Amino acid sequence: MPCSRLAEKIPGATPLVADKLKTFGINRQADLVLHLPLRFEDETRITPIAAAVPGETAQFEVEVVSTQIEYRPRRQLVCRVADGSGTLVLRFLNFYPSQQKALQPGARLRVFGEVRGGFWGSEVIHPRFRALRGEEPLPTALTPVYPTTAGLPQATLRRLIGCALDEVDLSETLPDALLARLSLPGFAASVRALHAPPAGLDAQALERWQQPFWRRIAFDELLAQQISLRQAYAARRKKGAPVLVGDGRLTEALIARLPFRLTAAQQRVWCEIAADLAQPYPMQRLLQGDVGSGKTVVAALAMLRAVEAGHQAALMAPTEILAEQHWRKLSGWLAPLGIEVAWLSGSQKKKDKQAIIAKVSASETALIVGTHALIEDNIAFARLGLAIVDEQHRFGVRQRLALMQKGGGVHQLAMSATPIPRTLAMSYYADLDVSVIDELPPGRTPVLTKLVSATRRGEIIERVRALCRAGRQVYWVCPLIEESEALQLQTAQETFEHLSNELPELSIGLVHGRLKPDEKAAVMEGFVRNEIQLLVATTVIEVGVDVPNASLMVIEHAERFGLAQLHQLRGRVGRGAAESACILLFGQPLSETARQRLRIIFENHDGFEIARQDLLLRGPGEFIGSRQSGLPLLRFADLEDTALVEAARAAADQMLVRWPDHAERHLTRWLAGRAELLKA
Ligand code: ADP
Ligand code: MG
Repeated sequence: MPCSRLAEKIPGATPLVADKLKTFGINRQADLVLHLPLRFEDETRITPIAAAVPGETAQFEVEVVSTQIEYRPRRQLVCRVADGSGTLVLRFLNFYPSQQKALQPGARLRVFGEVRGGFWGSEVIHPRFRALRGEEPLPTALTPVYPTTAGLPQATLRRLIGCALDEVDLSETLPDALLARLSLPGFAASVRALHAPPAGLDAQALERWQQPFWRRIAFDELLAQQISLRQAYAARRKKGAPVLVGDGRLTEALIARLPFRLTAAQQRVWCEIAADLAQPYPMQRLLQGDVGSGKTVVAALAMLRAVEAGHQAALMAPTEILAEQHWRKLSGWLAPLGIEVAWLSGSQKKKDKQAIIAKVSASETALIVGTHALIEDNIAFARLGLAIVDEQHRFGVRQRLALMQKGGGVHQLAMSATPIPRTLAMSYYADLDVSVIDELPPGRTPVLTKLVSATRRGEIIERVRALCRAGRQVYWVCPLIEESEALQLQTAQETFEHLSNELPELSIGLVHGRLKPDEKAAVMEGFVRNEIQLLVATTVIEVGVDVPNASLMVIEHAERFGLAQLHQLRGRVGRGAAESACILLFGQPLSETARQRLRIIFENHDGFEIARQDLLLRGPGEFIGSRQSGLPLLRFADLEDTALVEAARAAADQMLVRWPDHAERHLTRWLAGRAELLKA
């Protein structure tokens, strides 16, 4: 078949095949070049039957002696072949009439498969075979085996990729200077080496030989990612944003009035943010800090800076509970400064909402806190200067951007308590500047973590009783039931009733996702005021809730929770000076990963370390989720390879400045087929 038919997007591919290729992200002929083999088969040599080693894969050149269908022990096609050195049986448990026909006595075949000693002597089960016509030279290269899917035969892939290697532009996208400095092989040489390595190497030698070429491909992939993220960053920077400088009238007043002193880390990140806000282009900053590190007050300072400069600021949180808590906290801090904070949530009465929206668009309100309601279409800010998104990993990229688009050029601050390892941050947040609060406020006693079998629930209930009698408060987190929200709700209610029976002297509250927002708020407020001593909750309390008097958290069926979730939950206690504990009740039997997760959370308190181990346990795909990154996941590169990630980061910056054409060509090669994913 000819290689190219110009009318087709992928030359030589039928529409059906083209569809199958799309499932691998192959949309252009050039993408085929980057569809790399999983392994190889050696069809460059013929092994005499007599020399075949049982258990090894080999290729034979044979003549069919006889072929028949046998019925014992079950229906099968049995074909006897010979090559002068010996005989061999080919066995097919499933077969087509066409195969039977091809195996007529006298036919000459090339047979490929694993030999084993069988009932009829040496045999190969379901070998791959091909009829030989005349003298056919042996291939000189190893045969690649590609990742594929039903309806996309290896032979088709090999043919299309072979054509692509001949027809696609494989010219170098890295400048010579970079290639030399990084001592990487060229691109064309690398893809050829990976698709069609020379014959004569055994599996191990081949792996060693291919290693530098794999490294080049991994580097290229990381480089493309870095270039595109840096470009997005630069493009946003070209937009204008209001210069937010202030006289410190409000920010300094807040700092002076706080019941605590800012930690050095808080001061440092506040300086970084203030410097960004003073620029005439939008800030694009991620504020990372472990649970309880005190991000909210930094957000409050940034919001006040916007007000000092005559602009509005908005803070968006992922849940109603959290948004409302922020609103209360900010109101408490800012009311004495004469600053009002507005509150907007999806559950408010239409009339109240409209009144607030009117005030916001008339610029009567400078500060607003809310949920997703903030990004609904009917809100127009008069002078939005700063948009803050809390717990940004809970929002998709699109939602994060939607808030920024509420104003002409808006400074953006995203906050996250999900610490991610450095290489991952470099890779996925390369379009953001990152500030890290790397110390907790003083006076916190670390949370004591205990793993307790669920069979000892009774003892734990006694402990809750004693603690509450001593004036402390307790969270009791109900089991996560991912399959069914209804079941989860039922479990929460049962837990609540059970604990109410066991602990009649306590005032107990129940909060879950199905409560009406004002009911939820009433329960939370009761807990904040210490009118509720024991709070039974589903994971709605996972993020952000802050009640320093709560010093014990019990998590039921802790083995069902993810590491990040457990860390977040545990972060709800240990916020006051009192000694705090987190009890992880687990059910038996534990799976191996559940056991590992519980061990990690038991042994570690540092969110970054937990995240690092989580990454090792789960891999970056699951860890970050493409939904959040808005980026295609890496296929070849390994984010644990810090050196390579860093080299790619540096090379991207350098190429964008010195070799922009190279950078552009590189991006086209790697990402043009996936452009829609990058626009987010
Ligand atoms: P997170 O970073 O998890 O959002 P918060 O902003 O909710 O943390 O802060 C956790 C608690 O620590 C709050 O009660 C907050 O008022 C308090 N806090 C913040 N900064 C300090 C500080 N420098 N010293 C003492 N307490 C602080
Ligand atoms: Mg927070």
